[in-house]
Amino acid sequence: MRYISTRGGAPELSFEEAMMTGLARDGGLYVPAEIPRLAPDEIAGFAGLSYEETAFRVMRPFIGDAFDDANFRDLIARAYASFGHDARAPLKQLDKTHFLLELFHGPTLAFKDFAMQLIGQMFEASLARSGRRVTIVGATSGDTGSAAIEAFAGRERVDVFIMYPDGRVSDVQRRQMTTPTAANVHALAVAGDFDDCQARLKEMFADGDFRDEVSLAAVNSINWARVLAQVVYYFTSAVALGAPHRPVSFCVPTGNFGDIFAGFVAKEMGLPIDRLVIATNHNDILDRTMRSGAYRKRGVTPSISPSMDIEVSSNFERALFWAHGKDGAAVAGLMKDLRETGGFAVSDNAMTDLAAHYDSGMADEAATSATIAATLKTRAELVCPHTAIGIHVGDAHAAKAPEVTMITLATAHPAKFPDAVEAATGIRPPLPPRMADLFERPERFEQVENDLATLEAVIRERRSV
Ligand SMILES: *Cc1c(COP(=O)(O)O)cnc(C)c1O
Repeated sequence: MRYISTRGGAPELSFEEAMMTGLARDGGLYVPAEIPRLAPDEIAGFAGLSYEETAFRVMRPFIGDAFDDANFRDLIARAYASFGHDARAPLKQLDKTHFLLELFHGPTLAFKDFAMQLIGQMFEASLARSGRRVTIVGATSGDTGSAAIEAFAGRERVDVFIMYPDGRVSDVQRRQMTTPTAANVHALAVAGDFDDCQARLKEMFADGDFRDEVSLAAVNSINWARVLAQVVYYFTSAVALGAPHRPVSFCVPTGNFGDIFAGFVAKEMGLPIDRLVIATNHNDILDRTMRSGAYRKRGVTPSISPSMDIEVSSNFERALFWAHGKDGAAVAGLMKDLRETGGFAVSDNAMTDLAAHYDSGMADEAATSATIAATLKTRAELVCPHTAIGIHVGDAHAAKAPEVTMITLATAHPAKFPDAVEAATGIRPPLPPRMADLFERPERFEQVENDLATLEAVIRERRSV
């Protein structure tokens, strides 16, 4: 399996190389040259298997010879052993045709753990084999950072630096990043928003000298291995509800488009997915794009769903690549327009292709709070604000297509966003027992200017080799 860049100007890589590299040198994102298809009876055969065995069968065709079968099974088993639920990704029924897929039973209580825990295992195995070290730098809107820190803390051969927007993450999110004690973990509070952090990260990757000097690696959702790990729960949930014999739709609270793009990959692999519904908060650039055909920035406004306060939705580039018939030059042109003019127009052909897979909807702050309250009242579920956005948009879509089962992704545990949940319901969701003392642990972080040279200097200085 070869991996190619969405901008068509970087060398083809193996799975392992693409995983260790993150962003391609032409600024693009790595994607598999071909998405392997599973036959309906192979998919039907997933029924009754463990999460881990399904994960092995779904991901195996993508990894080439990176790991042999026994080794890969072992890495998967280790990745999910720390999850607080045997099913790993259990389903809950909201009503007759609407289900919630709970993705928050991992160590940091958000879906990011599914990919990050596995990446932690795969990085360690790969680095041990090659004898290399890497410096992982990540930008986070809140949940990726803690998931990465949890996955890499204390691992040999790795330093991990996480840039988060100072003052724009929840207290729980911040403490999950600033309280781990491992010396290889560095939390950087950047004076800016998430898009600033992500822009600095992309600049570091474009700075070839720095990139080589520190052996830069990325575990943001631009990393293909993360998208791949997220493909698995589309299969486990759809099969539990009757696939491949019955189609399902998914509604996905979306920011950087990684999670929902994993759904697209599942569909391309042969999983019968009717619609992939993009759910955004009031930072609704993706919903606006689906409605208007124009992707245009207008500034990010903080919300009670901070993990979706994003305007440069990195993985949307992967969707655009498919919508343009894998024409890397066309995608490179759009990304140049985005950089230079703050937006781009999607061609009619590409819009038709996107509309064949994706629907979209938005929940503003009032709708988000109202959905948190209503979900508790009528469905007896306490949900996080991101999940509430999914439920709001998923309900609206399900009303239009009542014959298809809708699965909404519950992306985080409500206790990660206690203020928003309490404001909506009067109930302050408690942290699970294993992290009940989070607010007593001492914090350790460094405030850094939103400036490339300064950030690079801090990373050079603090890394352990
Ligand atoms: C990261 C995140 C999202 C958005 O996921 P993307 O893959 O960036 O679209 C939604 N909800 C929560 C809780 C998250 O942490």
